[in-house]
Order: sequence, then C-alpha cells, then structure tokens
Amino acid sequence: MDFDPIERYYDMSSEAVARVQEKKLRDFIRYQLYPFSPYYRKLFDDNKIDPNSIQTVKDLEMIPLTTKEDIMPTAEDPKRYEQFLLQPDLDMITEFWPKTKLFGLKLKDLTGADLKKELSKEYYPTFRIETSGTTGNSLPFMFTSRDIKQFSNAYASIMDVAGLKDDQVVLNTFPFAPHLTFIFVYWVNLNSTIRVFHTGGSAVTSTEKTVELMNTVDANVLMGAPSCLHRILRKARKEKTDLSSIKMVLSAGEKLSRGTRMKIEAILEGGGATDVEIFDVYGTTEMRDAYSECVPGSEVFHIHPNIHIAEIVDLKTGKQKKPGEGGALVVTNIDGRGTVLCRFLTGDIFDGGIRYGPCPHCGRATPRIVGPIGRIKDHSTEMDLVNNKGALLNLNSFHDILPEMDEILEWQVSIEKRNNDPSGLDVLKINIASRKGIKKADLAEKIKKKVNDMIEIDPIVDTSFNEDDLFGMMGGKLKPERIVDNRPKE
Ligand SMILES: [Zn+2]
Repeated sequence: MDFDPIERYYDMSSEAVARVQEKKLRDFIRYQLYPFSPYYRKLFDDNKIDPNSIQTVKDLEMIPLTTKEDIMPTAEDPKRYEQFLLQPDLDMITEFWPKTKLFGLKLKDLTGADLKKELSKEYYPTFRIETSGTTGNSLPFMFTSRDIKQFSNAYASIMDVAGLKDDQVVLNTFPFAPHLTFIFVYWVNLNSTIRVFHTGGSAVTSTEKTVELMNTVDANVLMGAPSCLHRILRKARKEKTDLSSIKMVLSAGEKLSRGTRMKIEAILEGGGATDVEIFDVYGTTEMRDAYSECVPGSEVFHIHPNIHIAEIVDLKTGKQKKPGEGGALVVTNIDGRGTVLCRFLTGDIFDGGIRYGPCPHCGRATPRIVGPIGRIKDHSTEMDLVNNKGALLNLNSFHDILPEMDEILEWQVSIEKRNNDPSGLDVLKINIASRKGIKKADLAEKIKKKVNDMIEIDPIVDTSFNEDDLFGMMGGKLKPERIVDNRPKE
C-alpha cells in the first residue's frame, strides 16, 4: 500500500510531470474509478464511455462534469455520498486488474501477508471531514489509512512552498472541527518537525487568550481564516501587544480580499513586525486538498500533481480553455482512495487560468492555477437576488468592497422581506460595526453609494452594531456567515 510521494515531482520538467500524470490518469480510471466507484461506473455506462478510451487530459472532456448537487443527499438517498467511495471486492479486482498487479497480490498471499488486511488499509474509510455548510447539509468526504499517508505528505509540502523553517512556531487558530482547514494544519504538524500550537478557535480559546498566546508561545506564523486573524490582530493592537516576532501569515478557509490583506499587513507593521509574508491558501473540502500561493500576493497556486489533474473549463460547454485563459476550476483524482471525484466543478473561477512550464515566480514546473479567484455563485448561501433592473446580483461583490473600507470593523449582508411579509419585496440590509470616532450617518451614506454604484440596488444600512455582537450574530466561532438569507419561507 505504497503511496506516491510529492517530492519526486520537485525536479521533474513540466513535460515529465504531464507524462506521469497521464499515465496515472489512465491507470486510475481503468483500475480504480471505473471498477470500484458506483457513481462513476454508472456515469460511464450511461454515457457509453469506455474507461480505456480516457488516455490524455484532453480526453477528460468526454466525461460529464460532477457538481456539488450530484453529491447532495436526496430524500430517496440520504447517504448519496457513499456512491463516490471506492468499494472494491475480490470479484471486481480479478475482473479489472491486470495480470501483473494480480500477481503481486498473489505473491503477498503466498508469503503469508494478510490480503484482507492489506485491502482494508488501502480502501476502508477510516477518517471523515465535512464541508462547513451553513444549514445542516454538510457533505462528508472520507479518507482511508493509505489516504492519510498520501494526503498528509502532500499537505506538508506547504512547508517548502511557503518556506516555513523548522525553528518557527505556528499559531493555528482554525477551530477544532472536522473541517479541512484544521485537519490540514494538524497533518502538516504530524508530518514535519515544525512546532504548531493549536488554539482550537474562539469556541475553545477566547480572542484575548489567543492574543496572550502569541507572545507566550513565541509565535512567528499565524494561520487562520482572514476574518478571524484580522479580529485577533485588532485586539492585539488595542492591547499594544508586541507583534515584532510575526514573520508570516497563512490565510485559508475563506476569500482573502485585497482589503483584508492590506488591513492585516498594516496592523502587523503597526505592532512592530517587518517584512511579513502573507500567503493565501486555496483549498476545497471536495478536493480534500489545499495549495498555498507560491509567492505572497502572486495569486499563483501550484497543484499537487501526484493527486489531482486540474482543468480550467468553459462553464457552459465543459470544454477546456487554453492555458492562461480564465475559466472554472475542475479537478480529477488520479490518486487517492475513499471519496474520489472525476471532473468535479469546484465552483471557483480562476481568471488567470491554468499554466504549465517553469513558474516565473518560483521556478517550479508543476501545473499552476492563477487568480484572481471568483465564485460562480455564492455556494455558502445559495440564494438569488435581483436588482431594480431585474438582473441577478453577484453577492460576492460585497467581499470586495466592504473589507476595503477602513471605517468598517465587521460587516454582514442580510437578505430580508419588507415588513417580514413572505409575499413582499426583497430588501438588502447591511449590518455594520464601525470604528470609534467616525460619523455613522456619513458612513451609511458612503456604503449606500458604493453598493448602488456596484449593483444598482438601494440597501438599508444599519451602523448601530458593536463589533462583538455582530461577530456573535454571524456565528463567528466556526465560520462567520457574511451573507445570509433571512427571508421568511412562504
Ligand atoms: Zn510558482
């Protein structure tokens, strides 16, 4: 049950990486995905796709995209996610595996190794993470014992990419939860010699205590969701905490807007930190994987080439875009057991597309996806709102404009019904906690104008909130809900 370590890709040319990836793609589809995944076996059969016909990355275009909706539970099938687990049995193994692979198994059997145990280590799901969905519909994704080795090896490569040093101390503020963010950092910790202090998030360690810890554990690296880190750092500055030991920030779990990046940087500098590197980390639970920017602010993310193939596609046709052309990110497992996906539409748009060849920023030759990153639709909220002219609004725009405003400490957008009447008109309400000493009426006007310029809608702006109350309203302890649908159901 050997796994494929990422280190062997470090010195390959991009042509060599592509060759290895396509070989892995062919083998994975023929010997793992088609025989052992109930969902994909049916998908291939229904669409009359011969698994042997998928030879190259280009051939992937024959396979329909998989969306989040395909994995979501239904009334008839509440455990639909199980269809995506690799589930081999001995009959299928003998039917689909090539003679040489079978011979290897037979040898193990003859030499006394317990075959069933070997297969369990490889395929039996032992570990579960889930999406941090807002309303009870969080989706589980499973790892097997082999996966834990395979994925934690890839996760630990963030040490090399971001240039973490062994004598640095990381303060991890991601909540103790079955989420990729926490598990990712924990597995890096288990697979490296770096020292990590896990606070468990604000449900376990208060913001005040976290500020104290930064100094007592001599933290050099802060990890967390940008809105939580921003909050912790604001408290630290208020208490005039010395921040000069902080050298790096790794931000993950939600979009790192330009505004938040600048604010975090400014607070750190104000607290005495110099030359801080702020890395954005892009990941999704469905990929069970995350990538750090190779250079801070570059918006360049090298994928883990041993585990996934990435495609950037046209949303309407599912056809691949040319390298460097923007489009939707689609990922395919070419390794991994447990929950595996083929052509999964992540829901994220990479404006800079996919690129091959040596990276101008870091020199690595592994495929890289390039931002700015946008969302197809705000999946965390799944709501539609139209403006005065009947156009569908992109609610993500709020992530661009509100964090950039210096006067705002916390913000939340709530879609409501006028007078709470289910048949009434939709209204957009913006709840704001502002800095002390500013004119609230002026701020409200400024926000109204910005929103109207951007999406042609007149919001109600409520600037009466204080920072802690608003953060609490957003359920900030796990993941702040910035955009919420508070419309009564008809
Ligand atoms: Zn790079």
